[in-house]
Amino acid sequence: MSETFYITTPIYYVNSHPHIGHAYTTIVTDVFVRYRKLFGEETYFLTGTDEHGQKIAESAQAANLKPQEFVDRMTAEFRDMWPHLHIQQDQFIRTTDAFHKSAVQAVLQKIYDQGEIYLKDYEGLYCVGCERFLDQEELTEEGNCPDHQKPPQVRQEKNYFFRMSAYQEWLIGLLEENKDLVQPARYRNELLSFLKAPLQDLCISRPKSRLEWGIDLPFDNDFVTYVWFDALLNYVTALGWPEDSRYEQFWKHCHHVIGKDILKTHGIYWPCMLKAAGFPVFKKLAVHGHWVVQGSKMSKSLGNVVNPLEMKDLIGVDGLRYFLLREMSYGEDANFTEDLVFARYHGELSNNFGNLLNRSISMSRKNFENEVPPRGEPGKQEIELYQMFEQETSQIKAWVEQFEPHRALERIAMMSSAVNKYLDENKPWKLAKEEDQNERLGTVLYTALDASAWLVCLLEPVMPEKMKAARIQLGLGESPMTLEMLKPGLVQTGTQLPLPEPLFPRIQLKQKEPEKPGPTPKAKPQSEEKQEAELENLVGIESFQKLDFRTGRILESKKVKGSDKLLVSQVDLGESKPRSIVSGVAEFYRPEDLPGMNVVVVSNLKPVKLRGELSEGMILATDDGNSLKIVEAPGDSKPGTVVR
Ligand SMILES: [Zn+2]
Repeated sequence: MSETFYITTPIYYVNSHPHIGHAYTTIVTDVFVRYRKLFGEETYFLTGTDEHGQKIAESAQAANLKPQEFVDRMTAEFRDMWPHLHIQQDQFIRTTDAFHKSAVQAVLQKIYDQGEIYLKDYEGLYCVGCERFLDQEELTEEGNCPDHQKPPQVRQEKNYFFRMSAYQEWLIGLLEENKDLVQPARYRNELLSFLKAPLQDLCISRPKSRLEWGIDLPFDNDFVTYVWFDALLNYVTALGWPEDSRYEQFWKHCHHVIGKDILKTHGIYWPCMLKAAGFPVFKKLAVHGHWVVQGSKMSKSLGNVVNPLEMKDLIGVDGLRYFLLREMSYGEDANFTEDLVFARYHGELSNNFGNLLNRSISMSRKNFENEVPPRGEPGKQEIELYQMFEQETSQIKAWVEQFEPHRALERIAMMSSAVNKYLDENKPWKLAKEEDQNERLGTVLYTALDASAWLVCLLEPVMPEKMKAARIQLGLGESPMTLEMLKPGLVQTGTQLPLPEPLFPRIQLKQKEPEKPGPTPKAKPQSEEKQEAELENLVGIESFQKLDFRTGRILESKKVKGSDKLLVSQVDLGESKPRSIVSGVAEFYRPEDLPGMNVVVVSNLKPVKLRGELSEGMILATDDGNSLKIVEAPGDSKPGTVVR
């Protein structure tokens, strides 16, 4: 019997527009679902919007709309964006859906009937301008409402409370016994330390005299339900509880993906609510960190929201999905900058995997009449490569199941590098020139194509559209694969290989505009003296011809110890062994960005030692005064080709 997997995103509060934070949460959830499908599991993926509460009522009023009109407009922004980000949810729930409202009322009645909800006087700090109670933490240092700069009044109000304090000991026990319930572990620890203080009962109502936009309490029509109590229940109501079979099938396999800002509601309120209502507790709370722009959390109020749709215009939707999954260590905060985006895109997609696919196909087409070559007899290298692929594939499955997608993608990038290295070592371009090496050439190219197909399957959950294109390039079918099918022999000898288009074309980045562009200076007639001085800087063709420029392929790179600026690379110039070359690009490239790049090398410079590292040449780079960019040779040029 296949495993079952139910996963949810938080439902997004429609008081703000979708931003990169929402996009990340939803994309990472989509990727988890697609991987589980690859693992052969039965899946259900829920997302949606949270549409009640004071803030929505206020925003609707400000927009001169009825609350329902306002939320209809805002929820569409979320629902319409997901297909553009290649997200395929099974259900999009709205808390204004009729089935949700009636199920929330049924749960409230159940808990009320058990005596776990009671009415009492509530005393708090009320701001008349805001028409709501303020928390102590919200007040300014002077004790004023931050919006109205007036002290709030002490006011009493009757409200309904959920007896959450009764579940404190049970919840502590649950978290202590289930070490994997909340992860990463630091968030479980955070909850346990919060639970060291006495847990308060939770106010779950708002009197209609000050808020009408919500779900009526079934046992008292003068009140609506507190927005969090309403919202959290969506995870159960979406499955059609109580009568729909989806509830029976999926609820007990529930995994929640959330950002760390809503840990308390999901890690404290929610399990207590489930326990009180007689539902089993979710299986996992997988908590991720925030995207940070220049040191501050991305949020609407800071005005530094990055619109995910804008980034996809530069590197494609799948490029963006890859970056988000790869860059953020799940659970920790991560930086979002254009430079980081392009470094991942060029380093891992264009130069590593994209280049592997492109050159494997191009060389097969050239040497085997546009077809997948015969497989031939696998040697030691091929056997070892496949063994490594099998081991890594089961490790990747484990990383995904442990909600550490960044580690899975790191392994995939490593596997792709290993196949590139295999090609570099076996030099099919040399084998092609030797008559008696045709069988070996076929084996090497077949292995590279087959390994590429394997990687396509592993990358498909992250980049569904690009990998669909890669399948066509490799002549693979379109039927969905499962992990069990990943074995040697994915590509079929004799299959036609169409002319490959680069999947991840390099992007020419616009130069940054100068800060204060002045008027263009008019050309002045130069003095003769100056012209002569400039002439002295010119060299004759004989001087140029003394220099030997060659294409090289970077095999590996690392930082030079004790230097922030220098990287030392092993560069294949088509010679008997690679050269060691030091270059000053460490501020602009990470060591892992370079392997796989085809570069231009000045190959006849006198060797020198820089910071203890031997440098036998120079890698050319452009220098605009702000940044260095390595000059790249055409992707199909063999190492050692003359540049002139
Ligand atoms: Zn106020």
